[in-house]
Amino acid sequence: MREVLEDYELDKLTVATLASHSSLQIVHGAKREGLRTLLVVTESKAWFYKQFSHLVNSVILVRRWGELCREDVVGFLRKHSSILVPHGSFVEYVGLDCALGVEVPIFGLRKLLPIEADQHAKMDLLKKAGIPVPTSYSLDSEIDRLVIVKLPGAKGGRGYFLASSQREVIEKLEKLRSRGLVDDFSKVIIQEYLIGVNAYFHYFYSPALERLEITGADIRYESDVDGLRRIPPGRLAEVSIEPTFTVVGNIPLVLRESLLPTVYELGEKFVKTTAELLPPGIVGPFCLEGVIDREMNIKIFEFSGRIVAGTNLYVDGSPYTYLYWDEPMSVGRRIAREIKLLAERGLLHRVLT
Ligand code: AMP
Repeated sequence: MREVLEDYELDKLTVATLASHSSLQIVHGAKREGLRTLLVVTESKAWFYKQFSHLVNSVILVRRWGELCREDVVGFLRKHSSILVPHGSFVEYVGLDCALGVEVPIFGLRKLLPIEADQHAKMDLLKKAGIPVPTSYSLDSEIDRLVIVKLPGAKGGRGYFLASSQREVIEKLEKLRSRGLVDDFSKVIIQEYLIGVNAYFHYFYSPALERLEITGADIRYESDVDGLRRIPPGRLAEVSIEPTFTVVGNIPLVLRESLLPTVYELGEKFVKTTAELLPPGIVGPFCLEGVIDREMNIKIFEFSGRIVAGTNLYVDGSPYTYLYWDEPMSVGRRIAREIKLLAERGLLHRVLT
């Protein structure tokens, strides 16, 4: 990566990303910081992104996301001194091989991508960090409460189901196997279904300032599970669907101030453990995703090592980023600010992998 960086013109650094997920926030933030921007856009969505051309210096049109790894695309990105900002859809779109192999500097910890793609490895990392996680069960353990079962490769909350006994789990898995939706049961995650308020905590770890910042929090609005709440209890029995947890949007959340130290400590544990196990460790935005129960205990069932879509709520800054910066600071802008702070000191390699 350092070799690639040697050819970069530091006064022409370009923030590049895939046009989807949080890309508008990312390029908007980069513009506010005076950096150049580049969007990789699929032909089918080009008409939509055109209206934001004032935020974008260059565009690469592709037919499929996987074309990101094509030699000419990589060459174009490097010619423009691009730093690729991966967002929550990055691996899903380009595939793990391309994400790991693309020879363009990535803002963030590339080594984390394969771990994020493996739900068991993900939960292991959280446990190693000493972050409280839901109880998990194996297929042969007795199940005495409501559990959520996550199939390998399930994306965006689709492919999960609820059950409350070992028998129900196995029966439902067998049905899915007969439909070809799962083959290897050992990769399935069976987790205690946490009761409380779902909360997604956004963080930014800054090597430039050597500090962790809380940048926001959100609640996800998920179909069908949230929609089911609108059905009067007396009618619920008539709705015999297995609810999905497909995210359709995000709702802002401001936490009780007394929860902030706990939330901060969880973030610190994540930073410390990734630094130990996956040096140089997490840099930039990440998110811990969990449930706060009635005793104010927090358990985390998932993390994302990159910018999450919930940060789109705060394009003009969140209640927390205002406290650190006293100016409108989105996570997209925070990424650009970090790039600038480090580039000025010749330390850009600290956030690039
Ligand atoms: P995930 O793909 O792990 O982010 O999960 C998608 C959604 O499923 C979450 O946003 C939650 O609504 C729900 N979910 C996942 N794991 C749990 C859990 N252990 N307890 C309660 N809800 C969960």
